[in-house]
Amino acid sequence: MQQKPIPILMYHSIAAMPKGTVMRSLHVPPKLFKLQMWLLKFFGFKGLSMGELQPYLEGKKTGKVVGITFDDGFKNNLDVLPILQKFNFSATCYIISQNIGGINHWDLDKGIPKNPLMNENEVKQWIDSGMEIGSHTQNHVRLAECDVKIATKEIIQSKFDLETQFNCPIEHFCYPYGSYNNEIVAISKKAGYGTATTVNRRRAKSGDNLLTLPRVPITHRTFFHLFLMKILSKYEDKHG
Ligand SMILES: [Zn+2]
Repeated sequence: MQQKPIPILMYHSIAAMPKGTVMRSLHVPPKLFKLQMWLLKFFGFKGLSMGELQPYLEGKKTGKVVGITFDDGFKNNLDVLPILQKFNFSATCYIISQNIGGINHWDLDKGIPKNPLMNENEVKQWIDSGMEIGSHTQNHVRLAECDVKIATKEIIQSKFDLETQFNCPIEHFCYPYGSYNNEIVAISKKAGYGTATTVNRRRAKSGDNLLTLPRVPITHRTFFHLFLMKILSKYEDKHG
């Protein structure tokens, strides 16, 4: 069987939308998330963390699979655990290593409301529930715009921070704001990450560069029909 394109879903906050605020698309209400997972199951897909997805991206395995990722590590991501477990899916949450138990401070100047991030115990709960964590740098910086020494520290030290704090391997990375360049990719590879995700829009393919993986953004407007278009058709691929 030839591997079909692999959508890697990009989520942020899982919550009902705060009214009248900017960047409302960053929130997906839990009920909509549940519908989306149900649709995956119905159409025979398995939702996987980046670690479990990697062999499919490398062409070592084939199957109907979808990656599930959450950026930033919002506390409300814990609300999806029963849904993921019910469907026997796994997912990766990208954690900012120096902002555990903090808030989304990088969003506030855009008028985005404060939204708490998981604390240490909550990250442990995520891991203990069979889910994966990856790194999203130490301080949510725009890596391609940083001094290379700072970027290197953000990439390498965040891996070390999380491995030390949670006693598990950290093998997956996500570029904040999708900010990367060739040098950043080379540093991430050298740091030992197996995959890194961007905000480039299209479905991934077996054989893609694992350090610049594209994703499929899911928002509060991704209802039944649009969700299926994003998964099953070339709808997202025309953006990439
Ligand atoms: Zn982020």
